[in-house]
Amino acid sequence: MNSVSNSIIYPNPRIVRFVSLSLAASWLVIVLLIGVFAFREITGSHYLDALIAPLGFLILILVVLSLFVGSTARCPECRCLLFKQVKSDLSMSAWRPIFLSKWSLVVINIVRVRPFNCPNCNQEYTLK
Ligand SMILES: [Zn+2]
Repeated sequence: MNSVSNSIIYPNPRIVRFVSLSLAASWLVIVLLIGVFAFREITGSHYLDALIAPLGFLILILVVLSLFVGSTARCPECRCLLFKQVKSDLSMSAWRPIFLSKWSLVVINIVRVRPFNCPNCNQEYTLK
């Protein structure tokens, strides 16, 4: 269970990279959308309102795409889904922001081109 120990090269790098990038993109769009709402609240201007529908649509597309492709990204060791909340992690993370849950750490590590760990068995993987 030591994450520093032997890393395995993940067999489907394109799948996990795609899911991570689209999830990261959807987080970015969510931040943008919050920015648009904040702009409206602060300035009282409806200047950016036209962006709300396309941004919301973009988030929907990105999330559906990541869920769809992510449902094929499994850990070769324990067969558990990489982009999924682990049961044992739920009680602990109920109060934590989404960014600290284990599957989002997978996303962050892949986007930063770092090794990532399976959220279930903790096996470390690298992308080559
Ligand atoms: Zn695993």
